[in-house]
Amino acid sequence: MSYLGLDLGATNVKGALVDDEGRVLAHASEPLGDGAATLAPAAVAEVLARVAQSCVRDWAAVRAVGVGAPGAIEGEVITGCANLFRDSQFPVPLAALVAARLHGKRVILVNDADAAALAERWVGAARGFERAAVLTLGTGVGCGLFLGGDVPLRNVEAGHASVGGPDGRQCSCGARGCLEAYAAAPAIVRAYGDDSVTCRDVVARAASDDRAARAVDGAARYLAVGCLDLCRTLDVGAVVLTGGVARAGPPFLDRVRRHAREMDWTCLPCRAGRVVLGSVAHAGCVGAARAALNEAPRRRRLPLGYFVLALAVGLVAAARVRTVV
Ligand SMILES: [Zn+2]
Repeated sequence: MSYLGLDLGATNVKGALVDDEGRVLAHASEPLGDGAATLAPAAVAEVLARVAQSCVRDWAAVRAVGVGAPGAIEGEVITGCANLFRDSQFPVPLAALVAARLHGKRVILVNDADAAALAERWVGAARGFERAAVLTLGTGVGCGLFLGGDVPLRNVEAGHASVGGPDGRQCSCGARGCLEAYAAAPAIVRAYGDDSVTCRDVVARAASDDRAARAVDGAARYLAVGCLDLCRTLDVGAVVLTGGVARAGPPFLDRVRRHAREMDWTCLPCRAGRVVLGSVAHAGCVGAARAALNEAPRRRRLPLGYFVLALAVGLVAAARVRTVV
């Protein structure tokens, strides 16, 4: 069987058909187009369905569909989202809207940060650790935290852990000093001081532009604080960095590790090596597929004893028939 994972972003939709071991069998994507933030839910569901149809040839082999979406999710609806459905009324029943366009397949909604975390836990850098944290560094900072299980703990907001203290930078959540106010992509662009460039540009310039290097290094430093806090308070074996900022690659990871080494304790083994990069391609889709796998009803298998009993009853019945004849 296979699972379809769809990743609804602020500007585009990606999809991947995934087998039950996490391997990507097919993938597709489509931009949401102009005015993506104000598109109606039905219009977004249409794009999701088109991407789904591009990925799937045989719907009979698809057990369930997962949709990773930004914002707050309760069951099958989105209860709030800063980047999408700005002109729409919440809750948005996205699972039902997509299911109606996909042969009535079961559709499971999952927060996009949780989806990325599920992917890294399933087939990526968080696999094999009893305790692991996955930080998604993008427009915000999300966290999937695994403490002895394969499903992220609910309501963990490590992106809003205070790393800057009560007088730290203002965060969009209303508090001060949150990790997100330093390490999210918009924070890095703000620190650079030029809104006309993307975070990716700033990171790319860091090798040759001192101002860009300072902006990126500042983010890496506060991120190192957050990573060390996760290691110390929860003893996670890995802090996996994923998302757009982390995809700036090894140079960004090296900066985070260097700061972690400088700030780590000196009387115990250093934990900077626990900070690693995510390794799953199409992580949002693969994780959404994993959410579908977790939730999809499995076919109940009868215990072997039933078959043995049925066989015994059949043999006895056959013997009686023969005796009567
Ligand atoms: Zn905050």
